[in-house]
Amino acid sequence: MTKEEYITQDFCEEKPVWRTGRMEYLTESTWYKKIEISCCDDRSATVLNRFFSYLNMEKLSPVDKLIKGQKRIMEKRLEKKHQREKSKIDQKMREVKKLPKNFMDWIDETAMAHSRYIYYQYSRKKYMDGYCTHCHSDVKVSGVKHRKIGVCPNCGKKVLFLAAGKATRILDHGEAVYFQKTKKGFVVRFFSIYKYYGKHYKMPEIRTLELKRIFYEDTKCLKYEWRNFKQTGEMRWCAGWDCYTFYDAACYTANLEKVLTGTPYQYCAIKQFADRYEGAGVNVPYYLLRYGSKPFIEYMVKAGLNHMVEELTQPWYFFGEYNQNGKNLLEVLGVTREQFRFIQQNDMYSFEFRTYKKMLSQKNCKIPEDFRSFCQQYERDISLILELMEYTTLHKVERYCSQQTTEKQPYFAVMQLWRDYLRFAVKLGYNMKNSFVLFPKRLIQAHDDAADAVRKMEEKELREKMKLENERAKSLLEQYRKIYSWTDGKLSVVVPEDLFSIREEGHNLHHCVANYTHDVAEGKTIILFIRRNAEPTKSFYTMEVMDKNIKQCQGFGHCEQTEEVKNFVNAY
Ligand SMILES: [Zn+2]
Ligand SMILES: [Zn+2]
Repeated sequence: MTKEEYITQDFCEEKPVWRTGRMEYLTESTWYKKIEISCCDDRSATVLNRFFSYLNMEKLSPVDKLIKGQKRIMEKRLEKKHQREKSKIDQKMREVKKLPKNFMDWIDETAMAHSRYIYYQYSRKKYMDGYCTHCHSDVKVSGVKHRKIGVCPNCGKKVLFLAAGKATRILDHGEAVYFQKTKKGFVVRFFSIYKYYGKHYKMPEIRTLELKRIFYEDTKCLKYEWRNFKQTGEMRWCAGWDCYTFYDAACYTANLEKVLTGTPYQYCAIKQFADRYEGAGVNVPYYLLRYGSKPFIEYMVKAGLNHMVEELTQPWYFFGEYNQNGKNLLEVLGVTREQFRFIQQNDMYSFEFRTYKKMLSQKNCKIPEDFRSFCQQYERDISLILELMEYTTLHKVERYCSQQTTEKQPYFAVMQLWRDYLRFAVKLGYNMKNSFVLFPKRLIQAHDDAADAVRKMEEKELREKMKLENERAKSLLEQYRKIYSWTDGKLSVVVPEDLFSIREEGHNLHHCVANYTHDVAEGKTIILFIRRNAEPTKSFYTMEVMDKNIKQCQGFGHCEQTEEVKNFVNAY
């Protein structure tokens, strides 16, 4: 053992073996035992004491000094390893250049576009004194309310009105992204922003932290984050790992085209997407990732389908509804040119798009003009409204359901009740073109009557089906009677009269033999009753025989056989 290395000799094997294990592992105590190690002679102790004198820890026992010495060597090695890792990271970080001079202004003015207020001093006067945090000017406002959205009379930007006395502490959060060229590609830098308006709302504090950097080099992407380095307590750039997510970051777009030129992302249209409105959020890592596999995102942005792209570039997105092999957008979406224009005009969300496609495939389904509010109103159950629209127009559906709505039966409950009623009516063969059938005056009554009629009809159908099967079963049961009937004097095996008696047996004994009638009629299985000779008509046990073997034998409520029955069955 030297001061930089250690080695252990293991005498457990036949021949001594050299290992790299440490003393500390030998002494680690477990919950059931604690191991103490000490020197076996004074000479060893002296040797250890002399060797570890450099530790300056005279109080420790010789063995503890040995443990300490090994630990120190390990720590030094780890430190060296960390140093190597850190200098590699630092070297990569040197590729990152300075931010442009106007970057912090851009953060405040654009990336934090959602954080714009007019603070006003409440008074009874027509015009109140206000201050716009965006254009930093004093303005006169009138007819405004606390926490209402409006427009600044000076800069014309959308703002939120705040009564100066009521809003004393506002903390807003924002995210921003900056693209920068590197030798091998580009780096995306991610910033987390906090803007705090205290009592002195004219002087908000803004704090910007750079937390993440992703280097894009051809098809590779290397991630770095600002965090605690390997739990050492040192905050610095570290490699890998996804601690922070930036799903909604404003992009600095002034240099974007130049940065992406010559990279695989040159035509990804992210600049246009990021500029769709001031401070618009982009999930940059997912945008670039998805663009790699779904290049049609570019066409969607150029066609102005921003809502779809917003959803497509989030991690939770499901691609099922797009034909990803389509050569153009019409093929990707599976629509005609005219339908595409409608989708475009509405800048549809994917939920709306799904609904739209469903309606296109439904017969006689007129697409409502104000498509967005239609989708919003029926969002909680779009299939319900679409089913009702199979029978009549949206206008008539809404009129009828509103008429039927009461305090006890709210609008959506009426829709469901009516849908059930209409399904019954179809089953009963009513004329669905007749408006007396379609729009019953007293819906609840009509629903209950129709439900009753359907139940009766179904029972009748079931009985008729059983009758038919019973005819078939009769001759089978006749044959069985000759083969399977038996008695030992106390108990008997009885072959059922017909399928109805099997069903009754199931009801009497509370088990599920009634479900077997169909198989009995088909000859797939055989059901036999065990009865006491003293009470030959009273249900006792039921037996299933298949391929000449007894498969099961059950009494009341699935109960097991008693000794008596067991012996009887065995004798049988
Ligand atoms: Zn303003
Ligand atoms: Zn119902």
